[in-house]
Amino acid sequence: MIGSFIFENLPCRVVFGSGTLGAAKAEIERLGGRRALVLTTPQQQAEGAKLGTALGPLHAGIFAGATMHTPVDVTERALAAMKGCEADCVVSLGGGSTTGLGKALALRTGVNQLCIPTTYAGSEMTPILGETRDGLKTTLRDPAVLPETVIYDVDLTLTLPAGLAATSGINAIAHAAEALYARDANPVTSLMAEEGIRALAHALPAIADKGDDRDARTEALYGAWLCGICLGTVGMALHHKLCHTLGGTFDLPHAETHTIVLPHAVAYNAPAVPDAMARIARAIGAADAAQGLYDLAKRLDTKLALRDIGMPESGIDKAVDLAITNAYWNPRPIERNALRDLIARAWAGEPPV
Ligand code: NAD
Repeated sequence: MIGSFIFENLPCRVVFGSGTLGAAKAEIERLGGRRALVLTTPQQQAEGAKLGTALGPLHAGIFAGATMHTPVDVTERALAAMKGCEADCVVSLGGGSTTGLGKALALRTGVNQLCIPTTYAGSEMTPILGETRDGLKTTLRDPAVLPETVIYDVDLTLTLPAGLAATSGINAIAHAAEALYARDANPVTSLMAEEGIRALAHALPAIADKGDDRDARTEALYGAWLCGICLGTVGMALHHKLCHTLGGTFDLPHAETHTIVLPHAVAYNAPAVPDAMARIARAIGAADAAQGLYDLAKRLDTKLALRDIGMPESGIDKAVDLAITNAYWNPRPIERNALRDLIARAWAGEPPV
């Protein structure tokens, strides 16, 4: 049955395909840009330089200092680089870390962003920005940080190592899973969520088997786009809040943390949202949503235990305390004992219950 709902479409132009990076120059011109600063991580500087060459006279410079969690001091250095080369727009080429830097610059200067994502994190589809100052992470939601144009080029994802493709893909699935039971869930976002999960759950095993499987890489990027829209359109719950807390408190890697926690957070919420569970299970082709997500991670050979990515056992109770203190909406009320059990299982890498 369809009840009342609000659906807000976020304004963003999307160019999707193979070889679409070649459209970057025209897309910058379309936005009225004349001097573009290319942003990358140090690891992707060579790709950024190549793009800069292709941009010709539109290329104002490159800043290859993007890093995890968008530290404010890095943003300040990038602002100086923008000023130094008189850039009037930014081109973010990379994963969520690079996209985050582009958003931080747009927030401070109002410049247009052309975003070219190379992972499945989905940040390019959201008006959300997480920044860190002195190790403290704050998150804001502001339409000013939503990129104006996004180019998805499958070719750029071919270099994404199998391990990162797997965890980044499950990070994307997490956005869609929580969208299906969001407080402001709506039929349109739920359609995208189910299709996004289906596409990724189908594509990721094929990528794990054969990294240069173009069809699978295309399907995964398409799924990641849909999951990114879900993250940008409706509110998230326990899973995202918990990953935020765990990542920030113990400095855990973003996508791997999502991959490990997701089956457990879904299992926790399962009794409260049976319809969402049925849709997740259907999308991944499993009998049970939580177990199916755990099996998918196992199939992709990702790490299954928080202890294996650097969380100390003594952190379990600390994480419970923090997760209880920061109140937020969740379909199933947050109960201390059940939450402790969830985190302990995720820490040890046990199957979800
Ligand atoms: P990332 O951007 O940190 O990238 C990880 C590493 O992989 C980097 O060294 C990067 O250069 C490299 N890389 C990226 N694409 C590659 C490719 N195709 N080939 C080879 N190497 C490649 O990782 P991520 O998981 O994409 O992003 C994580 C960050 O994004 C976190 O800080 C997270 O908080 C943020 N995020 C924000 C939102 C949002 O809506 N604000 C959403 C999702 C993630």
